[in-house]
Amino acid sequence: MRKKFKGTKGQQKILALAEISDILSKAEEVFDEKPDLADKYAKKARRVALKYKLKLPLKFKRRICKNCYGFLVPGKNLRVRTRKGHIVYYCLNCKKIMRVGYK
Ligand SMILES: [Zn+2]
Repeated sequence: MRKKFKGTKGQQKILALAEISDILSKAEEVFDEKPDLADKYAKKARRVALKYKLKLPLKFKRRICKNCYGFLVPGKNLRVRTRKGHIVYYCLNCKKIMRVGYK
């Protein structure tokens, strides 16, 4: 595990977010060839978020399965459907459904 970022809490969160964004873009790159590695990256990104008590922005949240913590790629291992008042994400890895409300 990487050591903590220096600086104030606010600065740490910004750095942590940048790190998560970086990790997830790597996951995206390797997904086609090495889906296992992409999942590892997704788990790592989640750990960083937990460590800094970050609320993941929606664009990151929907890339990590809430059940199996796998890396999700829409159209590949993630099915997205919209229903009345919420979006339904269906993870093809663990076959679980996540519902996300939107306003
Ligand atoms: Zn899943």
